[in-house]
Amino acid sequence: MMVTTHTNPDGDAIGSSLALFHYLKGIGKEVYLVVPNLYPEFISWLPGNDDIIVYERDREKAKHALEGLDTVFCLDYNAIHRSGVMRDVLLPMDAVKIMIDHHPEPAEDDFKYIVSTTNTSSTAELLYEFLSQMDPSFVPGKEIASSLFVGIMTDTGSFSFACNRPETFLITAELLKTGIDGEWIHRQVYDTFSEGRLRLLGYSLSDKLVVKNEYATAYIALSRKDLKRFNYQVGDTEGVVNYALSIKGIAMAVLLTERKGRIRLSFRSKGEFSVNDVARDYFNGGGHKNAAGGDSYDSLENTIVKLEGILPDLKDALLNDITH
Ligand code: 5GP
Ligand code: MN
Repeated sequence: MMVTTHTNPDGDAIGSSLALFHYLKGIGKEVYLVVPNLYPEFISWLPGNDDIIVYERDREKAKHALEGLDTVFCLDYNAIHRSGVMRDVLLPMDAVKIMIDHHPEPAEDDFKYIVSTTNTSSTAELLYEFLSQMDPSFVPGKEIASSLFVGIMTDTGSFSFACNRPETFLITAELLKTGIDGEWIHRQVYDTFSEGRLRLLGYSLSDKLVVKNEYATAYIALSRKDLKRFNYQVGDTEGVVNYALSIKGIAMAVLLTERKGRIRLSFRSKGEFSVNDVARDYFNGGGHKNAAGGDSYDSLENTIVKLEGILPDLKDALLNDITH
């Protein structure tokens, strides 16, 4: 069997996938963990990291792993097209595909079985509940606990959003009971910036932040030149968009980054305003109500024009929730 996750894996993608990988190995299954492409270094220290096959990098190993699979667990995504470079091999595959995920509106035709919630903070939290229900003898060891802890911690922004469900903390408490060091884990993920990453953040906030108070919107656009200047590494723009959202009165924040052949957009919102809708309706993407992503295949300049152009249409909804 195989565990896999979405393209550009984040903390929850890697954390939940590794946890399931350790669990399945623990009950004696032959299991591979294959992810579409590289993920940030700040989640590369997790136990089992060296077993992760990166499809884009380790083609031969991945091909071997994908041969004759009977079961594929797809974690932290809700439609096969979110698996990036793995999409074309996963789609026609005969194996039973099981989705375990916390995004809204799963693509039901893509999977045989769907384990889906939208009220859990993270796939990691959902996986903990799923394993507990499926296997009464399930007791996480440190490997599983640290993987799930990373998933919950990163998808809640260090327990600051999507964490009003008491179970999020009860499960986290169970994970800590295994003896893992939550403070140490937090430092590995959040206090391991390179100098370039911190300076890129400073530059983004001082020189690139655009605030449109009349639309309760703030955005930051980074060109490839900007990224190169600060020696960009995978994951270096993670979290930047949240600073734009931290301004009082701002309901939507957007980070635009110029990548090879596309502009990546990362959306965040407060309250009832749905960036999932914005990402889906205008930028070929989706996600959650308060955190979503999308792509534009135009230039950075034109994408900014497009973004600014839709703000008048969204104005009422953006200004609706005055409690931001
Ligand atoms: P981020 O801005 O951190 O890349 O993504 C925020 C959230 O939106 C994550 O939960 C992620 O899974 C989801 N997301 C990001 N990009 C896309 C996309 O292109 N399509 C869909 N459907 N969801 C996305
Ligand atoms: Mn997630």
